[in-house]
Amino acid sequence: MNDIRLKTIASVKKILIKIGSAVLTGADGLDLKIIDALTQEMCDLTRRGFSIVLVTSGAIASGKHRLNITDKLKSIPDKQAAAAVGQGRLMRVYSKAFEKNNLHVAQILLTLSDLTDRQRYLNIRNTLSTLMDWHVTPIINENDSVAVDEIKFGDNDNLAAMIANVIEADLFINLTATDGLYDCNPSLSKKAKLISLVREITDEIEAAATSETSSVGTGGMKSKILAARKVTSIGIPCIIAPGKKKKVLSDIMAGHETGTLFLPQASHLNSKKYWIAFTLRPRGRLIIDDGAKKAILDKGKSLLPSGITAVEGEFTTGDPVNCVDREGNLLGKGLVNYSSDDIHRIIGLKTSQIYSALGHKDYDEVIHRDNLVITFDTKKSKY
Ligand code: GLU
Repeated sequence: MNDIRLKTIASVKKILIKIGSAVLTGADGLDLKIIDALTQEMCDLTRRGFSIVLVTSGAIASGKHRLNITDKLKSIPDKQAAAAVGQGRLMRVYSKAFEKNNLHVAQILLTLSDLTDRQRYLNIRNTLSTLMDWHVTPIINENDSVAVDEIKFGDNDNLAAMIANVIEADLFINLTATDGLYDCNPSLSKKAKLISLVREITDEIEAAATSETSSVGTGGMKSKILAARKVTSIGIPCIIAPGKKKKVLSDIMAGHETGTLFLPQASHLNSKKYWIAFTLRPRGRLIIDDGAKKAILDKGKSLLPSGITAVEGEFTTGDPVNCVDREGNLLGKGLVNYSSDDIHRIIGLKTSQIYSALGHKDYDEVIHRDNLVITFDTKKSKY
């Protein structure tokens, strides 16, 4: 038993669990034994009063197996078709396993565009929260069959990190085929050591993670670290742990040293800011001068037209845009109160001049500080 672990899990109620394809599938398609064992553990946790939301992979791998496809699927339509075959089976297997425990599951398939739309995001949040109230376990996967690049999460690690924010999880458990994060690639070096605690995700930690993937998964350790970085930045601890290990979930919840624990960062983003920072894709850029840079970084101020020196891209009111300094360093991302056309006309102006330039003035700020997320690390980068 370990003090930091015990402290981390002490107040946990809502747990986001992600299970990767490499855990769920064996040579014979879906590994029913593993699914049964993990389900049993999730049901035990539910009975103990924890709320569980599951993000699961395995649709493509299961579909491939059903159709006796042995080669790696390369094209997107092939993967989409295999997911359409496999998703139903994946749900049937989970559903049966939960029903053995007298508990129910609900299927939710999502694309990124479902989460970038604020209204749909809130609807999903309400559905998930009702299911949790009913002690029904939501089982989420990417809606692979309809997702094209523009609306793809990319991998289920990223999807899981976003859902952790939607449900405001207290803990994110990412079950994978390895034991956790190693200090170097364990398949290349026998000396590789498992890192049991990560207090902060530094550049070295990111470098330790390989983007190599298993033959069935899509993300690799790199995407698990990125997901850990996202959730820890909003105050959610993350544990990357071996999904095939017996009693892995109950061990974690008993505070045993299993896998790698990533501690939450002290300064955390609220849910809306997280949504802006990590869910929305920028539609353009605003280049800002040194005065405005100082005001938004040091003083937490809003961005006014007077601080903007150039606009790039075409966007409309409410769209997400990146803010960069004169050297092109990314400072943060925010939702604009004015379209790109309007901003072109008010660049460098005082707020009192907005009305005469545009014929209307709905806001003083181009980006209000409540809708502006700073991602520039002032501790690391001198300016
Ligand atoms: N959504 C994919 C599937 O269920 C997996 C994506 C991933 O493993 O990251 O097969």
